[in-house]
Amino acid sequence: MTVLLDCAIVGAGPGGLTAAVYLSRFRRSIAVFDAGNSRARWIPESHNCPGFPSGISGDAFLARLAAQARSFGARIEPGEATSIERHSGAGDGFALDVDGFRFDARCVVLATGCEDVMPQIEGLEDAVACAALRFCPICDAFEAADRDIAVHGPFASAARHALFLRTYSGRVTVVPTDTDASTDPQQGRRLRETGIAATAVPADMRFDGERCTFLIDGRRRAFDVVYAMLGSRQRSGLALSLGARCDDEGALHVDSHMHTSVPGLYAIGDVVSALNQIAVATGHAAIAATAVHNALSPRYAQAVSPPAGA
Ligand SMILES: Cc1cc2nc3c(=O)[nH]c(=O)nc-3n(C[C@H](O)[C@H](O)[C@H](O)COP(=O)(O)OP(=O)(O)OC[C@H]3O[C@@H](n4cnc5c(N)ncnc54)[C@H](O)[C@@H]3O)c2cc1C
Repeated sequence: MTVLLDCAIVGAGPGGLTAAVYLSRFRRSIAVFDAGNSRARWIPESHNCPGFPSGISGDAFLARLAAQARSFGARIEPGEATSIERHSGAGDGFALDVDGFRFDARCVVLATGCEDVMPQIEGLEDAVACAALRFCPICDAFEAADRDIAVHGPFASAARHALFLRTYSGRVTVVPTDTDASTDPQQGRRLRETGIAATAVPADMRFDGERCTFLIDGRRRAFDVVYAMLGSRQRSGLALSLGARCDDEGALHVDSHMHTSVPGLYAIGDVVSALNQIAVATGHAAIAATAVHNALSPRYAQAVSPPAGA
């Protein structure tokens, strides 16, 4: 016999775990399924995560959230959801396949995130851990102030991020992955006016144990900080298999309650077309969990007799 959950949450990053905290506290039967690959695991130390003035690592933040969700009874299971189907005939609800086991749920919250396209370098994890290689100027440009910064990626996107980073450092260089420096003339003018240089396409990229380096026009050049802006892949396959609407990159469209275009299917965090930030994912989670709770039938508490003598 399979148990019918009120809600299945796919993904235990900041978004999914926060949804689990809320739904457990709404006294809903839930389970969180997680393939263990949260983007937050890459964060050496975040300084813009609300409530942590001394900073917190991604792993420590996830551990706190998981402990908080479990303290209210949330079940968090390792496993990858490989397919999802809508129940036919019953009106609503879903069947999820997680590592070969079937789980039924009235609603599903997808918190599956996205993954960055990483540069192919030896020592990648060490480079990220020591913050020589970064992926998110909104997250940590503050900590890169006045450093010698390279922005590596397709020219137009790298140039856009370089202009943002130029408000933190006077030494910002675009190291493009393509020769499409044409872009729009206005952007080219802004790069020149702000003193942002652009190099040729590098022959390779390496990590020397402290800094990332590029071989450019036959000479090796090191930067204090490299922002890799090589794009990302949305983990929206489950929703797309149900016909959910998405943008050109596969990020899911949702309404103001985080409801996708598929009835009963909600999406939060990086998998949604929005700013990819922890604070956004947790905010999405609060909205989605409350919408799920309100969409489900109320389950009224039993009347409890007052203690004798009260
Ligand atoms: C190097 C780095 C530094 C960053 N620094 C900051 C920072 O300082 N501040 C900030 O706000 N943000 C930062 N971010 C961004 C932040 O990590 C993300 O915005 C955040 O993790 C998004 O949370 P999420 O819950 O949407 O997705 P994720 O954290 O990516 O979690 C998604 C989870 O879903 C699981 N999953 C996916 N598909 C399935 C499936 N089919 N079945 C089961 N599980 C599945 C994944 O394995 C993963 O565990 C940083 C990101 C990186 C890479």
